[in-house]
Amino acid sequence: MASLNKDFIKAALSTAEGPTGDPLVRNLEWTAACETFASVKLHFPGVTEADTLDAAARRTHGAIRAAAGEQGVVLTSLIVEIVDEAGSVLHTSNTGPKTNEDQNAKLQSSGEAHTAKQPSAPLAQPKPQDGAGGIPGVDKIIAVGAGKGGVGKSTVSVNLAVALARKGHAVGLMDGDIYGPSLPTMLGLGAHEMIVRERMIEPFHVHGIKAVTIGKMVDPEKPLIWRGPMAHGAFKQLSEQTSWGELDYLIIDLPPGTGDIPLTMAQSLQLSGAVIVCTPQKVAQDDAVRAARMFQQLGVDVLGVVENMSYFIGDDGKDYDIFGRGGAERMAQRLGLPFLGAVPINMALRENSDSGNASANFEPQSAGGETLPRALELLASNLESQTALAGLKQGRTKPKLTIS
Ligand code: ADP
Repeated sequence: MASLNKDFIKAALSTAEGPTGDPLVRNLEWTAACETFASVKLHFPGVTEADTLDAAARRTHGAIRAAAGEQGVVLTSLIVEIVDEAGSVLHTSNTGPKTNEDQNAKLQSSGEAHTAKQPSAPLAQPKPQDGAGGIPGVDKIIAVGAGKGGVGKSTVSVNLAVALARKGHAVGLMDGDIYGPSLPTMLGLGAHEMIVRERMIEPFHVHGIKAVTIGKMVDPEKPLIWRGPMAHGAFKQLSEQTSWGELDYLIIDLPPGTGDIPLTMAQSLQLSGAVIVCTPQKVAQDDAVRAARMFQQLGVDVLGVVENMSYFIGDDGKDYDIFGRGGAERMAQRLGLPFLGAVPINMALRENSDSGNASANFEPQSAGGETLPRALELLASNLESQTALAGLKQGRTKPKLTIS
């Protein structure tokens, strides 16, 4: 079966005409395509009339979708941008996941958003999540963020998910970290193929959880330039078009930082709350404060801070405070945020992550002793409590009164 890539897009646009009669492919400036979604940028020199651009955008959508239909390629999201000489966006159109039944006819009658002469405004504006929806069947959605990369955000996401599942919850884990998707490695997904059935992604069933990762949508060998709309499309697709079934918790590993992409992702789903991962050093804390502010600005409850790489236990059994243990905890106190717990630097944790064996972190013999499993279980218990408290505050859950 053909797959969605640059050559596919070029071939699809080779016969359809642009506004000046040239094949559309001649006007193609840039394209990016992943497993089931694509983003293309076109440039028609000298053409600025809104109706003409709109018609050209519709033909572009039609040509790509028709080619996908003929080749049996799953195409769930397509973004077409038309730019002027300076690179400013004159027209943008986006066929989202639910408008893909077929092709030209449906595109004309619309469900899609065609917007002429859009200024190239920044993608994300901090605003509360009021309009964001949930995911049917999923009870609580928790985003895991961090002010910067490398602090252990993915490690904490994976282990929180597995720890919650070991407590008997139905748990999903979604890797939305476009800059460095770690789940394929951390969950040992190397040999697993991504399966899409009737336009729904089948999550991987590993270590007692259901997981999907952006890392399985792109070729790890080929670097992909992620742009806002495309990252957003991939995120929406992963979250909304995965057969999650009934879940108690969906943990989402966000990209690090507070830029447009993590911000837009955090905005696009109704979150029950967010967890912030931080190492103890002052420089990491400063970034974590910014991450906390980002969630608060969006009206998302910060459920707590996790201090990762808090301390190291040497072979001599002594604790070594390499990065200044307690720094993240004090930062949480200062900001009035709950502290979920500390995870020590642990060689077994790193090895189990690299070998895709997250479950091993919960067995003392494969986790370098009792400390790590206990720390991870405590994190999960504290997260359960904070999520329940936030649910009460948000009015999602009602307090239960038991009279005996
Ligand atoms: P991030 O998602 O913040 O970029 P990762 O979770 O990918 O960070 O962690 C970066 C690296 O550090 C990984 O190799 C991971 O195994 C390792 N690591 C994270 N936390 C710990 C820890 N507490 N002890 C030992 N290694 C860790």
